Amino acid sequence: MKNNIETLCVQAGYEPQNGEPRVMPIYQSTTFKYSSTEQMADLFDLKASGYFYTRLQNPTNDFVASKIAQLEGGVGAILTSSGQAASFYSIFNICEAGDHFISSSTIYGGTFNLFAVTMKKLGIECTFVDPDASEEEISKAFRPNTKALFGETIANPVLSVLDIEKFARIAHYHGVPLIVDNTFATPINCRPFEFGADIVMHSTTKYMDGHATQVGGVIVDSGNFDWEQYHDKFKGLTEPDESYHGLTYTKAFGKMAYITKATVQLMRDLGSIPSPNNAFLLNLGLETLHLRVPRHCENAQKVAEYLEKNPNVAWVNYSGLPSNKYYALAQKQFTNGQSCGVVTFGLKGDRERAIRFMDNLKLCCIVTHVADARTCVLHPASHTHRQLSDEQLVEAGVRPDLIRFSVGIENANDIIADIEQALNA
Ligand SMILES: *Cc1c(COP(=O)(O)O)cnc(C)c1O
Repeated sequence: MKNNIETLCVQAGYEPQNGEPRVMPIYQSTTFKYSSTEQMADLFDLKASGYFYTRLQNPTNDFVASKIAQLEGGVGAILTSSGQAASFYSIFNICEAGDHFISSSTIYGGTFNLFAVTMKKLGIECTFVDPDASEEEISKAFRPNTKALFGETIANPVLSVLDIEKFARIAHYHGVPLIVDNTFATPINCRPFEFGADIVMHSTTKYMDGHATQVGGVIVDSGNFDWEQYHDKFKGLTEPDESYHGLTYTKAFGKMAYITKATVQLMRDLGSIPSPNNAFLLNLGLETLHLRVPRHCENAQKVAEYLEKNPNVAWVNYSGLPSNKYYALAQKQFTNGQSCGVVTFGLKGDRERAIRFMDNLKLCCIVTHVADARTCVLHPASHTHRQLSDEQLVEAGVRPDLIRFSVGIENANDIIADIEQALNA
């Protein structure tokens, strides 16, 4: 029996047996008990599967990872302690010093820093490409040592919509996986594997949690990329791992090779696990994801339509508006054409006008967060993207006057009334 996504949101992952708690328990334990030294040794050698130390695996974290894997239609997933950790692991799992990868230039500011500055210090180089460029143009960025292509389904905060099928075609033509950050769309609005993506990651801090209670991330593996076909390119997966007595991930784990390596090697060595308590909070959010996301989108559509008609507003960017550059792609790629709850716009007048508007909002709060049940607003050029130079801002598509407005699930009329009074103040 194949359950629909709404049912998976509520029930997937944790399936209690007779007499067990109905609600997913929090296994707040670092360690797990065994009765023989041999059993424990087999776990360390990956000969047997089981829990032994929460840095590698924890039942609560695994229940939630399994739910998200099912929501995305993947074969396996791991939770990480933040979205940043998920982005880093998703690349570092298949790239090492001397390697290269390619990313869409319109990505989250934190990811941009990670790829452009910090990965470079590890000897891994990233080339940024305009996601709207032609296949031929993007193909030019590939080199013999290129190991992955990366993009965001809906970029934060530029809101460009990634043509996942196009990106998948390019990646596969060059024999590398496509990794997609699906944070803003969520699997409710888009399941990138259906369009050819190989790996999906999220900042679960955003819509998946939805209540701003925990920072977290997740990586999901489709199981579809054939690492063995490009054996020499992905030796970390296709040749023996000395730290596990010569075990080879593709041989031992098949379709689960990538996600297993991320868990037993990267998590073992780098250790960015979430606390089981945070996984519990994330799961509470996931239980209503299918109810919240459509409401976010419905409210955002109303706010975008209101802003588009307002004479104080210079421009509005929301893919649900028929005037938007990405409207047709959004209709094709997203469930019911719904993208996300985030709208960006600019006001007529100078940068001060944007600051004055934001300071006058009452219901909608200025916070660094986004994709929350409560409407919130941010000025990326002064906040999340302040580390970026003017040139990098342009490359990332972030205009200096851009206001990022994350529409919550309050009553849309109340949100619009707050915008109206702040514009007139
Ligand atoms: C917030 C965000 C991240 C980083 O996630 P954290 O949980 O804050 O570490 C990555 N990608 C996107 C699209 C984001 O919005």
